Amino acid sequence: MAKINPKFGKQLKNYGAIDFNACYNCGNCTAVCSLSTEEDSFPREMVRLSALGLEDDIKASLKPWECYYCGECSTYCPQEANPGELMMSLRRYLTAQYDWTGLSGLLYKSLPITIAAFLIAFAGVLGFAGFVDFNLESMLHFGHLFEGIAIGAIGLIILMPNIARMWYFTIIKPKVKVPFIKYVKSIGELFIHMFTQKRALGCDDNKLRWFEHFILVIGYLSLLFTTVVLNWFGTSSLFVIILGYVMSAIVFVVTIDFVSDRIKKKKALNKHSQPSDILFVVWLFFMGLTAFMVRLFIDLDILEFNKWMYIFHLTVLVQWALIIVPFGKWTHFLYRSFAMYFAKLKA
Ligand code: SF4
Ligand code: SF4
Repeated sequence: MAKINPKFGKQLKNYGAIDFNACYNCGNCTAVCSLSTEEDSFPREMVRLSALGLEDDIKASLKPWECYYCGECSTYCPQEANPGELMMSLRRYLTAQYDWTGLSGLLYKSLPITIAAFLIAFAGVLGFAGFVDFNLESMLHFGHLFEGIAIGAIGLIILMPNIARMWYFTIIKPKVKVPFIKYVKSIGELFIHMFTQKRALGCDDNKLRWFEHFILVIGYLSLLFTTVVLNWFGTSSLFVIILGYVMSAIVFVVTIDFVSDRIKKKKALNKHSQPSDILFVVWLFFMGLTAFMVRLFIDLDILEFNKWMYIFHLTVLVQWALIIVPFGKWTHFLYRSFAMYFAKLKA
């Protein structure tokens, strides 16, 4: 028999879902959702499961990841139960369930703890800069080392075990039988969704938003490759230098639009932004901008006189790599891609 958690609704409030109990099950939201199909229908089903406190069913579901938050369902809900925001809150909740460290949940639920984590990271960077006597060469050297080590360690210690937990909750625990060959044959689905997020194209009037996301993902991944693998701050290759400028500019220019949407709160999806959503876009903006400025200062030969620019960049980088990537909204990009892969396995 399905286990009911009577406190589930209260728990979900911590992740941003406030109005879903107003739902009277009319089904409008599912009817207007352009991603919902007869075989794979949402968001009404998720609203019902949440209202009933059927936590295990929610944990086993991939549907919250199949929603791309266009906000249509919330616009047409006669009860203002905000099903789109519920789907977003379920994604935050699931992120906290997949995370074996428990830190994602802690950071989602407490703004003071989030601020403290960012301040500790800042203090760590300042301590490190003091330790190397603010020597720019040492800071650049260790900063570059940090990028490579952080990517490997976070991937191995946090993200891979969390993906394994997601697989356990959605495939193993519900006893879905998947032949090994299907895992192999369907792997392309994972990479297609990771790099293109093509499912978002199914949302009505979403072409521009999809294109912005696509450019941002390509710009971000290329900037990562340029700085970590091609050592953008240390290289003298003109091609790599220009590539880094272009990619970092793409990241901060495109994110300006995302930041301004969050501030204006005109679109349904931005009306209920949580601190984790805002931090994600603002830090992405700073990542691109400060990387661009550091390389510009190197090329203008003024970085030695303005080491604070690099310290600023390093702070943003450390906070991004140790807080936002493993425990914040960045993980949604990863979980969503795996959700599409797992959904293909379940089909
Ligand atoms: S449209 Fe609103 S009231 Fe109707 S089922 Fe969806 S959430 Fe419930
Ligand atoms: S936000 Fe958009 S994609 Fe998500 S459930 Fe609502 S209508 Fe569907």
